Amino acid sequence: MPENKRRVFATCSIGEAAETKLRDHGYDLEIYPHPEAPPKSLILDKVRSGIDALITTLRDPIDAEVFEAGKHTLKVVAQIAVGFDNINRTDANRYKIPFTHTPDVLTEATAEFAFFIMGALARRLWSSERLVRDNHWTFWHPFLPFLGDEVTGKTIAVIGTGRIGLAMIKKCSGFDMNIACYDPAYQNHEYIAGIQQVMDLRHHHGIQRENTWIQYMSFADAIKQADFVSVHVPLLRAGETETPTFHLFNEQTFKFMKPTAFLVNTSRGPVIDEAALARAIRENQIAGAALDVFEREPLPTDSPLRDRDIEDRCRLFSHFASAGKITRLSADPDKGMAGRCAQGVIDVLEGNCGGDPSKMPFVVNKEAFRR
Ligand code: NAD
Repeated sequence: MPENKRRVFATCSIGEAAETKLRDHGYDLEIYPHPEAPPKSLILDKVRSGIDALITTLRDPIDAEVFEAGKHTLKVVAQIAVGFDNINRTDANRYKIPFTHTPDVLTEATAEFAFFIMGALARRLWSSERLVRDNHWTFWHPFLPFLGDEVTGKTIAVIGTGRIGLAMIKKCSGFDMNIACYDPAYQNHEYIAGIQQVMDLRHHHGIQRENTWIQYMSFADAIKQADFVSVHVPLLRAGETETPTFHLFNEQTFKFMKPTAFLVNTSRGPVIDEAALARAIRENQIAGAALDVFEREPLPTDSPLRDRDIEDRCRLFSHFASAGKITRLSADPDKGMAGRCAQGVIDVLEGNCGGDPSKMPFVVNKEAFRR
């Protein structure tokens, strides 16, 4: 290996195509060989050994200790995810080390997954399949042994109208849903007006029977009237923002929701107080929940969400929303998380955008580099 070959350590494989792309750029790429996350001590050892770039996943805690270890050598941390709550932004800024993420390329995949698990929950797909598999399907009957709730024509509250929230809105509008939007920090009124125009046009041409609506409103107003609540916020703890999302859904919020309403979460687990949610479902304060993310992952065996009494109303998935083949693995930075992650490394190490991280599209902490 030539002396000046740049070194990249990845805490997991990001797929062959993107790895080849990095190697084609002449980088010496080392990949942690196990599917589980490496211990933090190993990440620290690698960073201390002088790597130029560290590829991380949402399982790796990246904080002052890591940045201190790499303060003279580490040039970039490239996260293969859009969420970056495992990376301490303040610490990254203090050490002036840019970190990148993979927005946009996973937006549609995550939104469609949120939509699918919402439908699976409401229409009781799991209970129905179980009936067949357990050989308990003995007759066809107008309403026995159970019915599901339709999605079409209902009202959804979309909490967080960033990239994925807007994509969810687009999908819901195709199912003739009314849409209550809430976002304290970013409101895309042009997009919402466009969706209303599409709704009006569909109604005008008889494509949908009812005239549906979409509007921004307060959090309380949105969740009070919703038949479905879908969460699309980043995990932000107190002190990180004026509107934290940690336990945004808690004992109080469940009381606001309709007893017939369903909660869908594909954002981050700690946005929901899980103990309160399990209670709310058990006590029929809300109808049920579909969850892709959890306060602790993998979901502990003693989680109250595994309670047998609520299992037909509580769908549980394995942090799987962005897990489509193209979305995860395409080496094309316009299509795949792997490609976008690799491009984040290349942009910084090769000084793209005039070598200014504040101009590099996938750098998150641009503020640390603005002059
Ligand atoms: P984004 O930054 O484009 O959108 C997030 C939106 O949430 C922003 O508009 C922001 O203003 C809003 N927001 C912030 N605080 C809020 C609050 N208190 N209440 C309501 N809204 C608030 O991000 P995105 O690309 O849409 O992704 C959203 C999140 O989804 C990510 O941060 C990530 O944690 C999660 N995610 C999960 C998966 C998965 O596999 N389950 C996949 C992709 C993303």
